Amino acid sequence: MNDETHVRVAVIGGGCAGAYSALRLQRAERGPVVLFEYGDRIGGRLYSRTLPGMPHVHAEVGGMRFIREKHKLVVGMIEELGLKARSFPMGHRDPKIGSNQNFVYLRRRHLRYGELSNSVKVPYELNWPERDMNPDELQTWAYRYLVPNWDTATLDDLFKVHVFGKPLYKYGLWDLLYLVMSGEAYEFMRDAGGYDCNVANANAVSSLPSDDFGPTVVYETLVKGYDQLPIQTVNTFVKEGGEVRHHHRLKSIVRKDGGGVRLAFVRTETETANDAVRRTVVDTDDHFTVDADHVVLAMPRRSLELIDWTPLREDKMLRHDLKTVIKQAGIKLLLGYEYPWWKALGLEAGRLITDLPIRQVYYFGSEQEAIDGERGNSNALLMASYNDLSTLPFWKVFENDPAFRGRNPGEPTNPDVLNVLPQHHPATTGMVEMAQLLIAEVHGMRTLPTPYTAVFQDWTEDPFGAGWHAWKAGVDFRHTMKRIRKPIDDWPVYICGEAYSFNQGWVEGALQTAELMLEEHFGLNRPTWLAKDYSLGP
Ligand SMILES: Cc1cc2nc3c(=O)[nH]c(=O)nc-3n(C[C@H](O)[C@H](O)[C@H](O)COP(=O)(O)OP(=O)(O)OC[C@H]3O[C@@H](n4cnc5c(N)ncnc54)[C@H](O)[C@@H]3O)c2cc1C
Repeated sequence: MNDETHVRVAVIGGGCAGAYSALRLQRAERGPVVLFEYGDRIGGRLYSRTLPGMPHVHAEVGGMRFIREKHKLVVGMIEELGLKARSFPMGHRDPKIGSNQNFVYLRRRHLRYGELSNSVKVPYELNWPERDMNPDELQTWAYRYLVPNWDTATLDDLFKVHVFGKPLYKYGLWDLLYLVMSGEAYEFMRDAGGYDCNVANANAVSSLPSDDFGPTVVYETLVKGYDQLPIQTVNTFVKEGGEVRHHHRLKSIVRKDGGGVRLAFVRTETETANDAVRRTVVDTDDHFTVDADHVVLAMPRRSLELIDWTPLREDKMLRHDLKTVIKQAGIKLLLGYEYPWWKALGLEAGRLITDLPIRQVYYFGSEQEAIDGERGNSNALLMASYNDLSTLPFWKVFENDPAFRGRNPGEPTNPDVLNVLPQHHPATTGMVEMAQLLIAEVHGMRTLPTPYTAVFQDWTEDPFGAGWHAWKAGVDFRHTMKRIRKPIDDWPVYICGEAYSFNQGWVEGALQTAELMLEEHFGLNRPTWLAKDYSLGP
C-alpha cells in the first residue's frame, strides 16, 4: 500500500456518494485523490451478497432497485460505466395483473393487493371520506384536502404554505394526517404501506405523496447486483489513477498550520470469529496521520457523529444541522430454499405486505431463472422480512441466539456443515424459526420447506446508525442542505451522502448531494451525461 502522508483530496467513505465524488474529482484532475474506507468492501449501504448455492441470484441486504424515470444520476452512471440493468418485477409478468394478485395480510385477514382500495374488505373502521382508497391514494387525498396545489407547487411555494395557521414544514406527517384522518385510517396507511417510515413523523414538506412505492412504479436493478454501481465506479476511479485504501477508519480531523487538515486514521481489520459465522471490522493499534488539502466526508449522520472534529462539538450551527435528520432503522432477513415454493401459490415476484413484524416479504426467482443462471438449479431466494422502525426490537431479541449454520441443499441438517456467509450479526436460529412461523401464517400455510441458508443485516449498527434518514419537522432543509455541504467557512471539509439529501432513502439522493458539492465547492462542470436542467435539489 502506498502510505503517502499528503494527498490533495481525501474522500472518506466508499459508499455511493464517496465513490462518485472520488471518480468525478479524479477525472477533473483535482488529484491526487485517495478514497479511504473503514471496512473491506466498497458499497456502504448497497451490499449484494451471493448466498451459497445461488451464484446468480443476488441477496440485496441494502438498497436493491432504482426508478429509471426519476433517478437520472443513477441511470447516467450506469450508462457511463456500461453496467447491465434488468427489470425488478413487482408482481405477475402480465402487466394487467402485476402486483394486484400479491397477498396482503392485515389484522389476520388475507387480501389481494388489488383489494386494498375496497373498504368492505379491508379490516379497518374507516370514515366515509376515507373509504375505497389504498394507502397511496389516502395520502394523496389528505394532501389534496390540506394543500390543494401540493402537486404543482414548487419547493419554495411549499415552504410558504400554511395549514390551519401553521407552516406546513412545521408539521410532522403523522401529526398532519391526524388533523384529517381517523386513527384507523392512519394505521391502515402504515400497515398496508409496508414501511412504517412512510407515515412516520418526518417533515410534512418532504413527505409529499411520491409514488415511489405505488403499484404502477417500474423498478430496475443491476444484473450483477446493485452494489456494482459503487464498485465499478471505484474500479474506474482506480483505472484512471485514483487510489483506494481499505480498512482505514477516520478518527479525527485537526487543522494544519499553513492550510489544509491533518486526518488521524486507525487501521482496522476484518476478523472472523472461531465459529466462522461472525465477521466484524475491528480497530487495530495502528494509528497514523495523513495531511489533505481538502476532505470530503461521504457518510451518514451516525458516521459523522463518530468522528472527533472540534466543529462537530463546538460549532452551534453544525451541531444543530447534524441533528436535523431522523435516523430510521432498516433490517433485512433473507432465506434460501431448495425451490421457490411460493410459485405454487401463484406468487411470482414483488412483495407481500403484513402488519406482522416481518412487514414485507419479497419473492426473488430461482438460480435457474436468473440471467446466466445454472440450469437445473432450483435454489431460490426469499426476502423473509424487510422491516423498519417499530419492528426493530422484535428481531433484535434474537441477535444473541446461536447462529443459523445452514445445510447443504438436498441434505438434512448436519452439525459439521456450515452453509451461510460470515456476517457481523449473522441470522440466528431464533430469527429463522420465527420468520418461518410468520411466513407460514401470512401465506395461509401450515408447513413450509425449511431454508438451507440465510443472511441478516441490521443497518442501525455502526458506522451506519440507520438504514436511511428523514428530515425532522420544523426544519427548513433548503438551507440546511446547502450549509452542510460545506459546514464551516474556513475549513476545507465537505459533507455529502443520502442523509442530508432531497431524495433520502435512495441512492439518487446520495449522488445528488455529491454532485452539488462538487459543482459548488470544487467548481466542477456538470457531467456530459446529465441534463443541465435536471434538478439536484436545494
Ligand atoms: C435496507 C435498505 C434498503 C434500501 N433500498 C434502496 C433502494 O432500493 N434503492 C435505493 O436507491 N436506495 C435504497 N436504499 C438507500 C441507499 O442504500 C443509500 O441511500 C445509499 O447507499 C447511501 O450512500 P451514501 O454514500 O450516502 O452512504 P453509505 O452507503 O452509508 O456510505 C458511507 C460509507 O462510509 C464509510 N465510513 C463511515 N464512517 C467512516 C470512517 N470514519 N472512516 C472511513 N469510512 C467510513 C462506511 O463504511 C460506508 O462505506 C436502501 C437502504 C437500506 C439500508
